[in-house]
Amino acid sequence: MPKAAISFWGGAREVTGACYLLEAAGKRVVVDCGMFQGCDDCDLRTHQPFPFDPKKVDALVITHAHIDHIGRIPKFVAEGFHGPIYATPPTRDLVALLLEDAMNFFKDASSALYRRVDLEDAMRQFVPLHYEESIALGEQLSLQLLPSGHILGSSFARFSLKKGSEERVILFTGDVGNDPSILIPSRASVIDANVFVIESAYGNKTHKHTVDRTLMLERAIEDVAARKGTLMIPAFATERTQELLHEINEMVLQKRVPEVPVFVDSPLAIKATAVFARYPEYYRDEIRELARRHPHLFEFKTLKMTASVEESKAINDVRPPKVIIAGSGMSTGGRILHHEKRYLGDQNSILLVTGYQAAGSLGRRLVDKAKEVRIHGEPITVRAEVRVIDGYSAHADEAQLMDFVNETRDRLERVFVVQGEPAAALGFAQTIQDRLGVPAIAPVYGERFEL
Ligand SMILES: [Zn+2]
Repeated sequence: MPKAAISFWGGAREVTGACYLLEAAGKRVVVDCGMFQGCDDCDLRTHQPFPFDPKKVDALVITHAHIDHIGRIPKFVAEGFHGPIYATPPTRDLVALLLEDAMNFFKDASSALYRRVDLEDAMRQFVPLHYEESIALGEQLSLQLLPSGHILGSSFARFSLKKGSEERVILFTGDVGNDPSILIPSRASVIDANVFVIESAYGNKTHKHTVDRTLMLERAIEDVAARKGTLMIPAFATERTQELLHEINEMVLQKRVPEVPVFVDSPLAIKATAVFARYPEYYRDEIRELARRHPHLFEFKTLKMTASVEESKAINDVRPPKVIIAGSGMSTGGRILHHEKRYLGDQNSILLVTGYQAAGSLGRRLVDKAKEVRIHGEPITVRAEVRVIDGYSAHADEAQLMDFVNETRDRLERVFVVQGEPAAALGFAQTIQDRLGVPAIAPVYGERFEL
């Protein structure tokens, strides 16, 4: 069998920092280049030089545009990586947007993770690769990106290693979607993988039965319309905002909700929506069909995108009822805070929480029914109603991950479980061993395995 080795430089018994080095057929390929997030020494670890020489890497493959998979790309280039960066076209566009936006969070030049010129250099190294297209990385090694069902353009990286008539397939999952998603296609089936490197963010969890989120959204709009309140929806700029816009657009078209002004008050979300609008070929079939008939999937007459600060401030002058979608998704910053400061004290208003809220975030305190919160140092008495659409996640849960691995059980030699908290990663590895009898481990940082 053709030989290969994988080493783990992030995402090892932790969710973030995804970065894996595949050595095969004389080539060195890195999969993902993410930032470490959410731990005490994460900033330090993100800033450390790469533990292997970027100059000696032949190619970088990016599975999808989330910061914990892309955040260190410009740094990788700054440290000497000159090779091609393979990703789908929407991933490339979202990477450009998110890494540009991330620069706003560098406090000063000395603490910056990368310079603008590094980002520009990195963007020039991108080589777009559509789903299913195959590209040769060497005489015996080829790469294919397949839909992973997680976010727009997200993919599995499937490596095929061939020697004579023998073939070995190594699959890096990136993040696996929670099927079905609203806008994007379901994940591909992979029945011929010999080695899996699989995520496990929800590797030991079962998603709660998903409530009808569309119905909850519809009710919330109807209720603020009746009460003349403001509906605040903190949302992530990519994916969630576009899903909401598509759903509201449908409701407006079908006259299921009263006509109320809807604002997308986030420059990043506005730009991300433009990326979504550019790639209908990356939607699921029924949405692509819909987009053919109604080319303005994310636009409707009561919608206003407020990019500038002046436009954003002018939202205050619009009398309720109104709907405001803004970041950040966990109310930890961004323009949503201005609206929360203004309307959380209003008993006619509703805060609709649609995503995961990390411990310690303002979003979590509101979900936990805090009576008083501080925003920009000002105390606010919470009188608005807080509603939560839960059970919603862009990640596959344990059963979905297991189904995925199970599809390839006949050929499977071993499984590496990554991108989960220790309990999730170790738990899922154990489940695979128990159910399939295939060696499965959750590697630790820096571990290297010959295949
Ligand atoms: Zn992701």
